Amino acid sequence: MAERLPTLDGSSDVPDTSGESGGAQGVGCHGDARDAARAAGDNEALKALMEDYPLGPHEQPQGMCPAFGSLRVGLRMRRTATVLSGSACCVYGLTFTSHFYGARRTVGYVPFNSESLVTGALYEDIKQAMVDLADPEDYDAIVMTNLCIPTASGVPLDMLPKEINGVRIVGIDVPGFGVPTHAEAKDVLSGAVLKRARLEAEAGPVARPKNLVEDRPTVSLLGELFPADPMGIAALIEPMGMALGPVVPVREWRELYAALDSEVCAAIHPHYVRAAAEFKKAGRAVVGSGPVGVEGTAAWLKSIGAAAGIPADTTGAAVDRATKMIAGAIASAPLEGRIQVSGYEGSELLVARVMIEAGADVPYVGTALPKSEWSQADFEWLEAHGTHVQFRASLEQDIEAFKETKPDLVIGTTPVVQEAKENGVPGLYFTNLVSARPIFGPAGAGSLAPVLMGAMKGRERLGQMKSFFAGVGTGHAAGYGWTEVPEKKLSAKERNARARGGKATTGKGKHSELAVGKEHEGAKAPGEEAGVARDTSASIRTKDRIRQSAAAKGSAKRAEKATEAETEAGKATEAEKPEPATAGGAD
Ligand code: SF4
Repeated sequence: MAERLPTLDGSSDVPDTSGESGGAQGVGCHGDARDAARAAGDNEALKALMEDYPLGPHEQPQGMCPAFGSLRVGLRMRRTATVLSGSACCVYGLTFTSHFYGARRTVGYVPFNSESLVTGALYEDIKQAMVDLADPEDYDAIVMTNLCIPTASGVPLDMLPKEINGVRIVGIDVPGFGVPTHAEAKDVLSGAVLKRARLEAEAGPVARPKNLVEDRPTVSLLGELFPADPMGIAALIEPMGMALGPVVPVREWRELYAALDSEVCAAIHPHYVRAAAEFKKAGRAVVGSGPVGVEGTAAWLKSIGAAAGIPADTTGAAVDRATKMIAGAIASAPLEGRIQVSGYEGSELLVARVMIEAGADVPYVGTALPKSEWSQADFEWLEAHGTHVQFRASLEQDIEAFKETKPDLVIGTTPVVQEAKENGVPGLYFTNLVSARPIFGPAGAGSLAPVLMGAMKGRERLGQMKSFFAGVGTGHAAGYGWTEVPEKKLSAKERNARARGGKATTGKGKHSELAVGKEHEGAKAPGEEAGVARDTSASIRTKDRIRQSAAAKGSAKRAEKATEAETEAGKATEAEKPEPATAGGAD
């Protein structure tokens, strides 16, 4: 029998994950997994997740699987292997999305089953996978990720060796029930690798980072940025005698040391709370917001200068230079119209600031991320400019805002954009069309307006398309291949009743067989046709039934009897026929 699995509190009790006592086995996507994790004794890890990533109104991810965020961060690091443990369907979806995004790296997988969860063999399997993979020729680090079920079951990745053959082992839990967005999962891994790098640097000399800047103070940036943005920011701080450090998430392990070596960390994306905490532990100042628009850039440069100890007049000169350029860029590309912004990237508030400074009316900004101290300045600025900022916004809130504020353009996630377009309002997908262009400094001020104005001009064309396709793909015709009103699927009992002529067997209740049969034949309800002799057709159906029943039972005698009865009923019907109104020409 496999060794008993140690739990996080150090005891050797294995949580019951069989499902019989409410363990993790059998939990659905997120549903009761949080409770299962608590039951499994994984309170400390879950408590930390709850504190760092507070839940919103929906309590479950409304976007992609959160683990995609950490997976993406691991896959972009050179000489880093990434391994997942979770349900096969989750791993399939995650690897599929990774390849879709062009990661071009292999993702390792440690599968489990009920037995390996219950006995603790999964932990041993994971440990063995680390041993098999830890080749220092190929890797600096292996990132081992617990998905929902192993996290809920309390598989203790922090018990793994910190290093095997000189290869670092970094274990993280990224459950959908504890990390509400994939953006925050990027922070889970970024925070974990920064922590390891910080502890290494504190313990003694570490490998020298490439391109380490030593002659000037540097600023590290937190958040996945459009590639041109770091260059633009570097140009803004250059007159202050400062240089740019690495962007976290980093591209290789040694960059972590360089990042921690920076004087200032700029939390451009305000939800990297664990990463920011590591910078603080390393004694670095952390500055929120970002250099967006004239006002945002001036405030940000002053904060950076103050944090790095740059003389005020030097900073002031850099501010004057930057704000002149940005004001010129805004004047050359003004923006008009009402725009709604929503997304899950972390830059929603910054994007809204750029738009407002360029002249747009932005009544609502929804972000799937929570409020943090790094977004406070942007929040206050937007509120002061009449914008409602919804942190941890749900899809429903974004759509409700769209209905209320009636924007000319919607920038949002796929379902929000779809809602807008269905209503004839132009929409742009935040991730593909806004995050994929610069937003900082003069480049940001000048690049957004042409795209957004172009999209708003498309409203008339969208209206034409809407009227041309009116009714297509909506209501009963929604989805591929549906053109007719879908028919109600009959149960076997109902089909049987229908075959027998729709005669009710119960005779009562709205779901009686008669009601079903009539509804589908377009027949009228009993008694609706006043004056029609009810027993004629009914008696024929009765005989039909007798005949069918007799045939089914192989009783020729009863079938004959039914035929005789039918003949008699026919005679009776003839006798009851009223006299024709006029004589002759009866045929
Ligand atoms: S790992 Fe969790 S959140 Fe991700 S797809 Fe699987 S069940 Fe859903």
